[in-house]
Amino acid sequence: MANQKATNVTWQDGEISREDRFSILRQRGATIWFTGLSGSGKSTIAIALEHALFQIGKLSYRLDGDNVRLGINKNLGFSEADRKENIRRIGEVAKLFGDAGVLSLSSFISPYKADRDEVRQLHDQAGLDFIEVFVDCSLAVAEERDPKGLYKKARAGEIKNFTGIDDPYQAPSKPEIHLHTDRMTVEEEVQIVLDHLQGNGLIVKQPFTRTEDDVAAVASS
Ligand code: ADP
Repeated sequence: MANQKATNVTWQDGEISREDRFSILRQRGATIWFTGLSGSGKSTIAIALEHALFQIGKLSYRLDGDNVRLGINKNLGFSEADRKENIRRIGEVAKLFGDAGVLSLSSFISPYKADRDEVRQLHDQAGLDFIEVFVDCSLAVAEERDPKGLYKKARAGEIKNFTGIDDPYQAPSKPEIHLHTDRMTVEEEVQIVLDHLQGNGLIVKQPFTRTEDDVAAVASS
């Protein structure tokens, strides 16, 4: 856990509580943390889940490896120290999203167990749910898929510190959800996560209807 640098800083509570925010959204904020090898299917599942949640009127937001590295973490590389800081910052961002009432769908290789455990601890301390989803497939399958051509580059020595090639991946020992993407369909995977969210009271399924009046009201406000 990073040390507190600034002194004389205290958390300021407002008049609206987390529960107030959750009640407006009719859902509980939480972090769904997808971890696994590059190409295992983290982003694919997060995108499909975001869509499925939208269909039932639930607000989610994807925090995705590359997107985050193009913004808040643009000053970080792939050394062990930078990967650690990458995950720490994302953990803090996900926690804020959860506190706001959003289901954050975080897709990061996050290869080190200690770093993921720190994010879990951060959520535990804040009283927010942290759902670790192990997006599991063999290195051979991930490499065969190679959706971004990165394994090819790593094998050719053009990328250093690539997880699975010349950097380790530490699998979760007790993830809340374990998906085997080399023998499940994306639809099955999404359903498993949805069932978990419903089973744990994070979302209550309800029909979502957005009328033309709703759209017009937002557009004219
Ligand atoms: P990651 O985000 O883990 O790096 P991606 O989601 O970008 O991985 O890529 C995974 C690739 O594997 C995609 O091309 C996807 O279509 C494919 N794929 C095949 N079967 C599955 C599955 N069951 N679940 C998820 N992805 C799958």
